[in-house]
Parts: sequence; C-alpha cells; structure tokens
Amino acid sequence: MKVKSPLEIYKLLPGTNCGECGFDTCMSFAAHILDRSAKIEDCKPLIEQAKKNDKAAEKLKKLIEITAPEVDEVVIGKDLKIGGKEVLHRHELTFFNPTALFFDVCDTMDEKTIDERCSRVVEYKKFYVGKYLTLDGIAVRCTSNNPDQFAEVAKKVAGYGKPIILVSLNAECMEKALKAVGSDKPLIYAATPENWMDFLKLAKKYSVPVVVRSKDLNMLKSLAATFKAHKISVVLDPVTEPAGKGLQRTFERVIQIRRTAILGQDKDINCPIMVTPIAAWTVEGDDIGKMYWETVIAALFIVKYGDIMIIHSVEPHTIMPLVTLRENIYTDPRTPVQVEPGLKAINNPDKNSPVLITTNFALTYYTVESDLQSSGASGWLLVLDTEGLGVEVSVAGGQFAPEKVKQLMEETKIAEKVNHRYLVIPGLAARLQGALEDETGWKILVGPTDSGRLKAWLEQNWPPGSGVEVKQ
Ligand code: SF4
Repeated sequence: MKVKSPLEIYKLLPGTNCGECGFDTCMSFAAHILDRSAKIEDCKPLIEQAKKNDKAAEKLKKLIEITAPEVDEVVIGKDLKIGGKEVLHRHELTFFNPTALFFDVCDTMDEKTIDERCSRVVEYKKFYVGKYLTLDGIAVRCTSNNPDQFAEVAKKVAGYGKPIILVSLNAECMEKALKAVGSDKPLIYAATPENWMDFLKLAKKYSVPVVVRSKDLNMLKSLAATFKAHKISVVLDPVTEPAGKGLQRTFERVIQIRRTAILGQDKDINCPIMVTPIAAWTVEGDDIGKMYWETVIAALFIVKYGDIMIIHSVEPHTIMPLVTLRENIYTDPRTPVQVEPGLKAINNPDKNSPVLITTNFALTYYTVESDLQSSGASGWLLVLDTEGLGVEVSVAGGQFAPEKVKQLMEETKIAEKVNHRYLVIPGLAARLQGALEDETGWKILVGPTDSGRLKAWLEQNWPPGSGVEVKQ
C-alpha cells in the first residue's frame, strides 16, 4: 500500500462520519483500511457519490490506487486469493493470503489413483489451535500430451470442487481443457518465451489467470508486463531448481523478485510467486529422499515469499509440517490468537463436577481443554476474556481480574449448574486467591501450574471434603 498514514485515506473519504461502514468516524474507517481490516466498498456513500459525480469518482479511483497491495492479489477459482502481500517481513504488518498448497495428479494416472489423490486433498484437515487446517487445490498435469485425455481428467478433477491449476505447455491441450473447465476459472500453467502468444489468447478468451515462467528475470518481467497490459492476472514462476547451487539460485531469484516488487515498487513484477517443490521428484534417489527434499523446499518458500506451490507427496509426514508452518507464518502478529470467552462443558459435567477457570488465549485454552478431555475428568471450564493473553501475563496486566471473574460467573450462571462453591484457578494465578474469594464469595482452590497435571491434581483434591484442607 502506498499510503502510510490514515490521514491520507481520510482526505479522500466523504468525511460525514455517518457510520454506515460500521465505524463511528471516517478516520476510524481510514485506520482500518490501512491495516486491511476494512474494505473501501464498505463506504457506501463514497461508492454512490462516485456513480453520480466526477470529483467523487476521481477520489474513489485515487483511493483504490493508493490502497492497492504492493503485490497483486490473484483469485483462482471462486475465491482462493493468493499474493496481496504488503511487506517483506511479517513483523512490519502481517502476511496476507497464506501460501496456497496444490497437489498434483497426472492425466496418465489410472482413475483409482486420481480419485485417491483428489480425495486426500479434499478430505485433509488437521485441528490446530482452534481451527482446521486444510489444503487448497489440485494441479492437473498433462503428461499424455493428448488434448482429449487432459480435458477429460481436468473435468473429473474439477468435480471435486477444489480450485485447480491446469499444467501444460501445449496450447492445444490447454485450450481443450479450458473448454471443459474454463468456467471454474483455473490458473493456467505456463506461458513461456516459446508459447506466450497462444497462452495470451487463451487467457483473454477464458478470462483466467496465468503463470508466466522463466529463469531469466528480465524475460519474466517482460512476459508479466505483456500479460498485465492485457489486464490478465499474472503469477510468476522463476523456475524451481531442486538441488545444490540450483536451489540457492532459485532462492535468490525469489528474494530478488519480492524485494523489487515491494522496495522498488516495480509494477511489472509485483505478482504472486509460484514455487514448485514437486521438482524434487526429478532428482535421482529413493522416494523418501525425494519427499524429504520436497518438504524442505516447500518449507523454505512458505517462509520466504512463495504464494502458491505444487507438491507431489500427499503423505501426512509431508503435509502436516507444511500446514503447521504455514499457519504459524501467516498468523497475524497484531492479534493474539483467542477463543470465545464463556463456559465450556467438558466430558458431560454434572452438579458435582469441579469448576475451573482459564484464559481465552487460544494456546492456553486448547491445552487445558485437551488435557481435561484426555484425562477423562469432567468439569465446567470458565473461559475468561483476557484479550487473548495467557495466565501469567494477564494476571500481571490486570486482564485476569477478580471483578471480571465475578462478572463471567454471573453471565454464565455457573452457580445454578453446580451444588458447590469451589473454583479451581491456574497455579500461575495463585496470588489472586484472596482477592477472588473476597470478590466472588466462592472458595478458591489453586490448581497446578501445568494443566498436564490436572488429572492427578483432581484425583487428589476433588471432591474437597467439608472442612478438609485441599492439597496443592
Ligand atoms: S461510511 Fe464512509 S462516510 Fe460514512 S463514516 Fe464510514 S467512511 Fe465515513
């Protein structure tokens, strides 16, 4: 984004503070545009004015121009967005649009293999810190060089409903496949110095995004500029060399492209970058070695600027580290990962079950919840809104405060759900014991500092006998 201050955006807004965008003031809306948590289209008055008068239309145009991301956003299929990056380092803002992971099928594979691979991509999901991590799409590779066969397999794969990449350098094969699935808006791979004219015609005819491919960055820039001049969305493939010095050169090309796009503000090359870890399968060696290198290459470019990649291995030991790494790289550092506060029932608790409390920092919550679930113990878990902070920090910062705990207990009506008045607090919140007893009127039991010891702690301390001292 060219602008760095909300004031520059504010100057182009109507300035009426009407609140239609969901924010109290135009300045607040401008600040949210700047951190990309609001969209220009949400200012309906500006959109309406732009339809009626030229001055407002000019302002809208300027606003769109100055708030466009540094790296183009490209849409594949219905709504898979790639690119859209603003910064070179995540801590400078955040990285938008996680690396899209596509897995290949070939049109020479037998039907059963194609179905198995597509199903793995569609069905994959891994629960991680409160959400399911999934895979993005399927790349259909034309290895038959037969237009009909390629089109038939593309159609079959499109039936799985995931975004697709059509992979062929042969324009005749590509055209046949586009006739079959062009309406699904696949990404087409790849226009090269040899075939670009045919691919340009296809990209225009079917309105699909295209990958341009060359190791020579001047050639890559020239191809990208040509397609962009025709308003075609472009993805850059600087060619992934999977081993030795070649891998080092690949890394250098990727870095150079992204630095030129963001620091040099080069509008020809400010496109999402494709990396193809699948190239590891072209290196001599056994399958385990190929999978290993494919995973290493994918991991490297998830960290550094790969916006989309094609991978061959659909084994869990390849996929799991990649989706986990991607999630961590793309988590917004400005927002603590948090869960909804409230009351959670663990393992069908009843009126005699213990009441425990934790924070709404996602990592803390899911650790406590899964430790309780796996221990088999049942309980009521109060989740306090600590603005996504963990126990120790929120106790120190005042977000884990006795009055907030009392309010949560009232809101969740926990007193009506149990026939006792004991609340188990985390060991790290022990210093609040007295203040919590005063505020809530409940007896506060200090639990372990590590929720992994909750099972043993509950076995020793629950139920607390009347007048019996509770062990810690
Ligand atoms: S809708 Fe537009 S004019 Fe109204 S407050 Fe929001 S930014 Fe301002």
